[in-house]
Amino acid sequence: MTTRLTPRLSHHRQDANDEGDGAEKPDEPDPALKSEKLNEDSEGIEKKLADDVQTPYKSAKTFKELGLKQSLLEGIFNVMKFEKPSKIQAETLPMILEPPHRNLIAQAHNGSGKTTCFVLGMLSLADPELKQPQALCICPTRELAIQNLDRTQKMGTFCTGTTYALVVPGQNYSEGIKDQILIGTPGRMADMVRRRKINLEHIRCVVFDEADDMLSRGFRDFSITLLNEIDKKREKKGKECQKILFSATFSEEVREFAISKITKANHIFLRAIDLKIDLIKQYRVPVPSKEAKAEVIKMIFELGDLGQTIIFVRTKESARKLHSQLANEGHKCTSITGDMQPQERDRVIKEFIEGTTRTMIATDVLSRGFDVDNVTLVVNHDVPTERSGNPAYETYLHRVGRTGRFGRKGAAFNLVLGNTENVQLGAITKKYNIPLDDIQWDKEEAILEALEKAGLSAL
Ligand code: AMP
Repeated sequence: MTTRLTPRLSHHRQDANDEGDGAEKPDEPDPALKSEKLNEDSEGIEKKLADDVQTPYKSAKTFKELGLKQSLLEGIFNVMKFEKPSKIQAETLPMILEPPHRNLIAQAHNGSGKTTCFVLGMLSLADPELKQPQALCICPTRELAIQNLDRTQKMGTFCTGTTYALVVPGQNYSEGIKDQILIGTPGRMADMVRRRKINLEHIRCVVFDEADDMLSRGFRDFSITLLNEIDKKREKKGKECQKILFSATFSEEVREFAISKITKANHIFLRAIDLKIDLIKQYRVPVPSKEAKAEVIKMIFELGDLGQTIIFVRTKESARKLHSQLANEGHKCTSITGDMQPQERDRVIKEFIEGTTRTMIATDVLSRGFDVDNVTLVVNHDVPTERSGNPAYETYLHRVGRTGRFGRKGAAFNLVLGNTENVQLGAITKKYNIPLDDIQWDKEEAILEALEKAGLSAL
């Protein structure tokens, strides 16, 4: 197996969701690094089969019954060390792998094993004899692309002849890509397609990871144009291309859009409330001024070791400001924003994962998919909002979901300034039926009590 990896970061070109320099623009979600184990709770599944599927799929109890190539079974058992399919794998792998390889729009928790579903889909369709791109996996960020490539390479360890290319900013290809499986970010993929470095004729499978991101905001036009172009090329050959969309959340609008655009598809959706943030104790902390937000955070710090904490802010500017404010007073923390160079982002993330740093200030670049087991506290310095000012409902779930992993204890504090933030938070908690207790911002005992109530009393 040959690979073309090792991103050359010095030529980094910011990807679509890394753009934006306006201090007032919210920084965007980034399903960056994931390091979680399996999160198996998937009740409340809503399934609908493609119209032309006659016999219902049989959920797979074992990997062996999926008809996978021996080389893939070896990768699953010997390299990944998986014993049996997770629930989402049991449901979706038959849909992905059985001819005629119908499209799939699937919602699955982070950590439920969804990566394996599309990785096996790509690896089983790719013909190692044909030295042309055959599967594309498009991810909203570079970090997620790298992580998915790593999983694909591991699972494909025994797939002799299959090669992979990472298509992200900084990764340059002077000639047409001949690898079968291409994993990357939309900006760079579009660039490579435009420059005819990726031949779309043989693409048998396209995966959108974090699909709600890929079909919303700046990525929608790219995604749809790409799919249309591939379909046109495939139709000329009388062939189809399987589209696989996976996401932990789907907004109503994106869900409708996906269903209308990706036809002949099997669907699997979860009810929003099943995203399981109900175990995390959540609080509202009304504050009288911007400065008071920093005061509350400092007070939390002074309570002692809180495990790891992520403080979410809305803009890059507030991340910088809060970071220097805290640092100036001797509180150790790091920060991550979408405009940082990738090396710097990697370093900050690595330090947090390793526990060298305990507190991280982050814009929504980090709200999705980033999982560190020991995050006990999430502080929403600002209520998450869209660019329009509307509440960012799913982002709230993702942010708060950074804590309380695997049934561990967790708490989230929402610092709320003025009527606007109050209304925005109210809309979010009403939508998901989240009970919120109020805490008085300037009372240390109140904060301490709130942490204890959340089960974080060993602090
Ligand atoms: P994912 O949701 O794809 O990010 O997977 C979450 C974690 O579960 C990763 O660490 C995977 O390696 C692991 N995982 C995925 N599928 C299985 C499985 N069938 N058995 C055990 N672990 C798994």
